[in-house]
Amino acid sequence: MISADLNNEATLPIDLEAIKQKSLLDKEENKAFHQFLKAKYGGHIDNDIINIAQSVSSKVNCLHCGNCCKSLQPSVLAEEQEPIAKALSIPTEAFCDKYLEPYEDAFFEGSMLMKAEPCGLLDTNLKCKVYSVRPRDCSSFPHLHKRDFVARYANLIEYYGVCPIVYHSIVALKNLTGFPQETH
Ligand code: SF4
Ligand code: SF4
Repeated sequence: MISADLNNEATLPIDLEAIKQKSLLDKEENKAFHQFLKAKYGGHIDNDIINIAQSVSSKVNCLHCGNCCKSLQPSVLAEEQEPIAKALSIPTEAFCDKYLEPYEDAFFEGSMLMKAEPCGLLDTNLKCKVYSVRPRDCSSFPHLHKRDFVARYANLIEYYGVCPIVYHSIVALKNLTGFPQETH
């Protein structure tokens, strides 16, 4: 089991393969945790998970990970496309052709998805080539600072096996709430 003591550890482990394997083992447990949160806390757990995620984020070095940029496809809003193209010194159309693909379920008109996994804008040092103008979907990932955690749980739990911040935050929330966990 990959566990971490948030109070005593300066940095948290980024063992991506172990987290991926653990997420498979915890699939049913994580569904049960959602039911547990709904029954016991309703929507009143936001402050706890926000505080936990803040603490966890300060102990995870994303530059040693980059797994979101390597394995997810963020959405890029219409108004974000031109600034990114400018940062790359290429025309917006060329940027869209090279890096983006259509997004069938796009919530916002003109929104597109990053084409490649890994993202074509990730450099070899795991840094974003357009960091200052990166899409909002990237800058706000893994979205644990937002409210309505229980309502958004089904989407967030998809990142449990991908993002060490999500993994460690959910484990810490299970500990905080006294949710009975399996030891695999
Ligand atoms: S645009 Fe930058 S932050 Fe977003 S996925 Fe690509 S490399 Fe990562
Ligand atoms: S946000 Fe999560 S998946 Fe992305 S680099 Fe940081 S720890 Fe890794």
